[in-house]
Amino acid sequence: MSVPVSQMWTVASYVLSQKLARRKQYPLVLMLEPLFRCNLACAGCGKIQYPAHILKRQLTPEECFKAVDECGAPIVSIPGGEPLMHPEIDKIVDGLVARKKYIYLCTNALLLKEKIGLFKPTKYLTFSVHLDGQEEHHDLAVCREGGYDIAVEAVREALKRGFRVTTNTTLFDGADPKSVRAFFDEMMALGVEGMMLSPGYSYDKAPDQQHFLGRARTRRLFRAILSNRNPEWRFNLSPLFLEFLMGKRHYPCTPWGMPTYNIFGWQKPCYLLQDGYADTFAELLAETEWSNYGTESGNPKCANCMVHSGYEASAVNDTFSSIGGFLATVKATLSSRYADPGALKLLDEPQAIGQPLVQIAGAEESSQPLQETRA
Ligand code: SF4
Repeated sequence: MSVPVSQMWTVASYVLSQKLARRKQYPLVLMLEPLFRCNLACAGCGKIQYPAHILKRQLTPEECFKAVDECGAPIVSIPGGEPLMHPEIDKIVDGLVARKKYIYLCTNALLLKEKIGLFKPTKYLTFSVHLDGQEEHHDLAVCREGGYDIAVEAVREALKRGFRVTTNTTLFDGADPKSVRAFFDEMMALGVEGMMLSPGYSYDKAPDQQHFLGRARTRRLFRAILSNRNPEWRFNLSPLFLEFLMGKRHYPCTPWGMPTYNIFGWQKPCYLLQDGYADTFAELLAETEWSNYGTESGNPKCANCMVHSGYEASAVNDTFSSIGGFLATVKATLSSRYADPGALKLLDEPQAIGQPLVQIAGAEESSQPLQETRA
């Protein structure tokens, strides 16, 4: 198991209580973005392209606590921007720990060694370190030579001090599955608790057939990576979400499962799209036209999407919705090798030259995607 039993129990009892209350839309993870500033300029991220007056703004600790209390999700993920650049990030974390929230502080780790003294190890705090693959691939993805070495050194320091540490990896078309598998081996040898994984978000204005191929390519890539697993690999994700990525399951998107709060308010409908903002979480749930989103909606912005922030909550919901979903989760947890000779052949296929990291929406779209490809 890659997460503490207390965390699993908290999540399970929370989901069951939502089911007993017959709530159809409930949040599982709050994506709390306290700022958009970052000390990297990754090719796959457009948040730092906000104007300077937006980049200077940040949520206060009190604004963060209000959002967390309003939302009620048991897990709070803190992406950004780079949260360690927030001058009061320690106060934010302390306030969330006091509320017994399980926190995933998502960081590129460039500042982690410098700031680690601000934090105390606790089961409630996990550093989720952004690493997009082996050294050469990660440095290319974050446009920073030496970024991998700095992050790995910070992971070692955090582990030495007793912190929970996971990795957070976003994969795109053209990723080399052999290299990704070798990266998993490296991370397990490093001693991280588990690995988080998601395909990047690729908005594409292409016709439907290409949209289909987009999802088909994603499934093919994840089938190659996640079949015939090294039993040592541990993932900090629902096993059914991994099966979804491999093409073994179909799920509709659950955009309210991981709602986003930032300096603009509650973002409609999800972490990736910006179709306006709500002032309160209740307003977000009540006033968003949810039927306009997800693959089945026909919305072209959702056509290729299989990201963690849209679909992991669907997988978790499946686990708790039926005996079949629960038994499938138990089976996937106990026997997770996924032997597949066909997938072994995929590993030997020649890889695309170059790395198409970014697919950015056109400015003429009525809504304004964040140009954000990380999930
Ligand atoms: S399918 Fe993706 S882009 Fe569309 S609402 Fe769901 S998470 Fe957002």
